[in-house]
Amino acid sequence: MPGYEIFGDEEKKEIADVLETGVLFRYEFNEQRKGIYKVREFEEKFASYCGAAHAQAVTSGTTALKVALTALGIGPGDEVITQGFTFVATWEAILEVGAIPVFTEVDETLNMDPADLEKKISDKTRCIIAVHMLGAQARIEEIVAIAAGHSIPVLEDTAQAAGGRIRGRHLGTFGNCGTFSFDAVKTITTGEGGMIITDDRELWRSMSEYHDHGHDHVVNPGARGGEGRRFIGFNYRMMEIQGAIGIAQLAKLDSMIAAQKKTKSLLQEAVSVIPGVQFRKLVDPEGDTATFCCFMLESSKHCKRVNTVLAEHGVGAINFGDNTWHFYPKWEHLLAGSTLTRSGWPFLEPGGRRRVVYDKDILPASAELMARTLVYQIPIKMAAERLGKIREALKKAAAG
Ligand SMILES: *Cc1c(COP(=O)(O)O)cnc(C)c1O
Repeated sequence: MPGYEIFGDEEKKEIADVLETGVLFRYEFNEQRKGIYKVREFEEKFASYCGAAHAQAVTSGTTALKVALTALGIGPGDEVITQGFTFVATWEAILEVGAIPVFTEVDETLNMDPADLEKKISDKTRCIIAVHMLGAQARIEEIVAIAAGHSIPVLEDTAQAAGGRIRGRHLGTFGNCGTFSFDAVKTITTGEGGMIITDDRELWRSMSEYHDHGHDHVVNPGARGGEGRRFIGFNYRMMEIQGAIGIAQLAKLDSMIAAQKKTKSLLQEAVSVIPGVQFRKLVDPEGDTATFCCFMLESSKHCKRVNTVLAEHGVGAINFGDNTWHFYPKWEHLLAGSTLTRSGWPFLEPGGRRRVVYDKDILPASAELMARTLVYQIPIKMAAERLGKIREALKKAAAG
């Protein structure tokens, strides 16, 4: 994972171009900027890398989700289905546009279970957000097929899987649009930042206008607005320095993935000594970004026992069932419907027309799976010493 590990001269050179002109902003200042449009260049390169027609840079992966949902026309009264194992940002964005998140189980891909998705679709479902968690593919082709049967758009939250593919086709290009994050822990980082890719020109135009107060950049290339605004927008503009860093990081993405893959195969070999262990199911192992090594033990008891030994040797793995950021039963503020709005909206609509309740136990299959899954994050540069320690600890765990 994180791209900050390899922040270096290439990033500094791109930043220097921006500092040279002093134009820190992506729009206007056309004379002073001396032909330098870093955010625009990052968008063009990112779209081309992914094989998408258009890309829209924004301030974060969370705002990328919000801008995409808004451009898809999602709002109050709508339901959006996503998976119960994801980062909180996915459903925060759904609530942020006034819609209601509905959660599915995950299967052994650790992503959306298509069979459960089918069950959760209602006459209010207006969008499906499939997440490619922990660097690897959701069953996105099955999900897109189910969604198409109901004429529901699909958004791919690809925040954790930039560069991931299925048979060569990039994640983020299967649904109507795909969102990415460049925050501190992501494979490409720009400090903070996000991107949305799509082949749908009208959708992209809506995103471009919405993210900049409704200004139209299509009828007025290089400038903003001047033609009247089609709808009310907001401000989620990316800065030139972020665009500059993104260009340098993107150029390194494939080599980062290759380095992680090497480490991952060594880790998997080491993990294989545990009796009964199974690895996370990958839709296409070739297209995995190898940012995590995830493995399942036979029972939660066995899992706890193994991780206790690993922790005793200073190399404990992550159990996302205990982690408060990524798994539904641990989202206490969502379960409680905690919101700053005095009316209780969107959990409680004024007049009591609707009360939305999140029951802790609605995802039993995911809970069972999470309780016996262990995860190692894979850095781009894995110290041989740490790998050796993990290998030794796993041997001990296998014996005990
Ligand atoms: C990181 C992340 C986001 C949010 O990205 P930010 O840039 O931190 O706002 C959204 N979804 C998932 C799955 C993430 O991991």
